[in-house]
Amino acid sequence: MTFNELQLHPELLSAITELGFESPTPIQQKSIPQILSGNDLIASAQTGTGKTAAFMLPILHRMLSACVKSEKSVRTLVLTPTRELAQQVAEHTEKLLSHSHLNVVCLYGGANIGPQEKRLKAGVDIVVATPGRLLDHLIKGTLTLKNIQHLVFDEADRMLDMGFMGEIKRIMRTMPHERQTLLFSATVDDTVLSQVKPWLNNPKRVGV
Ligand code: AMP
Repeated sequence: MTFNELQLHPELLSAITELGFESPTPIQQKSIPQILSGNDLIASAQTGTGKTAAFMLPILHRMLSACVKSEKSVRTLVLTPTRELAQQVAEHTEKLLSHSHLNVVCLYGGANIGPQEKRLKAGVDIVVATPGRLLDHLIKGTLTLKNIQHLVFDEADRMLDMGFMGEIKRIMRTMPHERQTLLFSATVDDTVLSQVKPWLNNPKRVGV
């Protein structure tokens, strides 16, 4: 299978070529068509398998293909357990967006909130965040999730292990019900499933 066969947006195909990706990895081959179809998804995939592009490419394709109001609003949220992963996902997303007009902001704790607020105020399409700092922004009113169309839980198992359930529950209450929800996790066991099931709508399952 090639990236061309996946019929991704030309702006994304240009970025993929520049990055030197020759063909989709197994998790990308399985996930991308499902996400393009609009399905919710539970994917078991380790870091290093190409999982970031597996969820980001089809989300970006859908965002680039949608008719949007001229004003920017946060339409995609990726939740990650750590600052390092948030930064990694945001950097990877920026590379995938090198030929597009969409932008991404990374929000994490332990850094000044001021510059993050400034970037949010200037208008953002995609937010990659750790749960605690995201909640700080929601409480301060510097961010709203009312326009979210795509939500990703990245490394969901670690996020739950690290005790973020309370924050995530509060975040979920501010989100529209009509959205696409994707869960990527190294392990997908009954504990993970029982906790996240209420937030997914008839999800498909993929793994590698
Ligand atoms: P990830 O699993 O998202 O952390 O990705 C691991 C690494 O694989 C990253 O450095 C990506 O840039 C790279 N990568 C992702 N997809 C592909 C692909 N289709 N071909 C080659 N490298 C890729």
